[in-house]
Amino acid sequence: MIKLAERINRLQPSATLAMSQKSGELKAQGIDIINMSVGEPDFNTPNHIKEAAKQATDENYTRYSPVPGYPDLRKAIVEKLKKENGLEYTTDQIIVSNGAKQSVCNTVMALVGEGDEVIIPAPYWVSYPQMVLLADGKPVFVEAKIEQDFKLTPEQLESAITPKTKMLILCSPSNPTGSVYSREEMEGLAKVLRKYENIYIICDEIYEHINYTGQHASLASCDGMKERCIIINGVSKAYAMTGWRIGYIAAPLEIAKACNKLQGQYTSGPCSVSQKAAVAAYVSSQDCVEEMRVAFERRKNLIVQLAKEVPGFEVNDPQGAFYLFPKCSAYFGKKDGDRVINNSTDFAMYLLEVGHVATVGGDAFGSPECFRMSYATSDENIKEALKRIKDACARLK
Ligand code: PMP
Ligand code: GLU
Repeated sequence: MIKLAERINRLQPSATLAMSQKSGELKAQGIDIINMSVGEPDFNTPNHIKEAAKQATDENYTRYSPVPGYPDLRKAIVEKLKKENGLEYTTDQIIVSNGAKQSVCNTVMALVGEGDEVIIPAPYWVSYPQMVLLADGKPVFVEAKIEQDFKLTPEQLESAITPKTKMLILCSPSNPTGSVYSREEMEGLAKVLRKYENIYIICDEIYEHINYTGQHASLASCDGMKERCIIINGVSKAYAMTGWRIGYIAAPLEIAKACNKLQGQYTSGPCSVSQKAAVAAYVSSQDCVEEMRVAFERRKNLIVQLAKEVPGFEVNDPQGAFYLFPKCSAYFGKKDGDRVINNSTDFAMYLLEVGHVATVGGDAFGSPECFRMSYATSDENIKEALKRIKDACARLK
């Protein structure tokens, strides 16, 4: 047996990607599965963005790009941050990477060292704790329950802080809950954070544009926070560009430089053609973003209504992203024949194998009483999926 490095042994595989793969395998066997596991828009990348990529290829943007990304893309990001978020950055504070996932990981690797504590509100996106573990840090989970709309309170934040706290990872709109922090809620967290000036904050804003409140609040825009915040964003969700792999950080210069150094040894600059497509996404009309947002909001209303009709589910009303995260623990301990549901992973597996709907158990998101459905799919699929889920649940006694 090959002796792998200890860091690999302690790493968990991504539950979201694993479930999506399993659903793909069942589909390949001819089983009609509705895939609500992975979180990605079902829309195609808008045509004007694809055209820009074709042009970039013809113009031979086919060689290595600068490690932090092309200057025109970083300039377009600076302008976006100014226009949409009222935040002033220079291009050297922007580092473009292979998706926002790498942007988060670069930042964690650049700042977190052995024994450093990283506060992660639960439910959390599956990859945060794993990235912290990769960096030899210690994830510190703070549970935010459905009754508090899954949002961290200033009191909870303050009681989790210790002299070893290095970082807080905040995601709004949130994956997996869809919760959105209001400006007042961000101000409340900022008030605590101002007292502890050695804590850095990752503000994961990848779902910024999929927001039903009409207002996106960035912690970085609260007094004294920009110098300590690392904004994560990218084109994957807003422009339906998950496969193009373009994400970025906007960060204090020293942190940006550290990520640049890391990326220079690790992956180099991201895909040249994708970067040119991302420029087109940022500088062209934003109508496509609004059209997709409207569709997501309609689907959100539909899925919330249908999920509330499933006996035993407790459902929040998410204000962003494209996930619903119902509490399903009423079914724990119940049986369908010989099959017992002991936890949310069992529940998701039951929905997959019996209901033919792929979802993800809440365990992987640090919330074992819930499960996640991505509603980035057609209205018809949502209706059929919820019917199947309701029928499968009705068999559990
Ligand atoms: N952060 C969150 C909260 C996400 O859900 C995702 C989804 N993949 C990412 C970051 C990474 O995005 P990307 O596809 O750009 O790597
Ligand atoms: N962020 C998406 C999700 O949560 C994509 C999968 C992943 O990168 O983990 O499903």
